[in-house]
Amino acid sequence: VDEVNYCLRCGTKLHRITALNETGQRLACSSCHFIHYENPKIIVGCLVINGNRILMCQRAIEPSHGLWTPPAGFLENQESLEMGAVREVREETGVLLDPESLIPHVITSLIDCQQVYILFRANTGSSTPAAGPESLKAEFFARSEVPWDQLAFRGMRQYLELAFEEIQNERFSIHVSKIESTRFRRRSFPVSDDNRAKAGFLGSS
Ligand SMILES: [Zn+2]
Repeated sequence: VDEVNYCLRCGTKLHRITALNETGQRLACSSCHFIHYENPKIIVGCLVINGNRILMCQRAIEPSHGLWTPPAGFLENQESLEMGAVREVREETGVLLDPESLIPHVITSLIDCQQVYILFRANTGSSTPAAGPESLKAEFFARSEVPWDQLAFRGMRQYLELAFEEIQNERFSIHVSKIESTRFRRRSFPVSDDNRAKAGFLGSS
């Protein structure tokens, strides 16, 4: 992660301080007292499922150029998690999804890269994805067809294998995990009824 060295407001050199009542250090400006907060970025994506196949794209950009991953990317301002995931899927694979059809699947704290990774799942009848500008290819893969030795990110293999098992058994969970240096910890919460989650939407529609 790049570090900001100069104040975004007045251009004075920033320095690290320990703020009152807080643990850890903040980057602060000694001139205008602006504090440059550094917080994890949110990555959203979706496991798009067609029958027993999962949609993946081959990355046309760094990091991991040429390697495969389910569509995902940084959440933008003004977007809900679902909207962000739907946008990433559309941009990278051309597949259109209804945001309200998305079901939470994986929530991972990537401590070392200062990211939170939120992966939904959704079913689609679409079978002809089209790669967007950030992808070389977009394809649906059955378990035996996945390019297992060309996956983009650490931890991805484990989640894909889990997802294929869940698809086969028609029993899904929400997986909450934490990856820190070489340590991996996961808790799984079975979802007993997908439709109940949909009915739980609050507010007007
Ligand atoms: Zn300043």
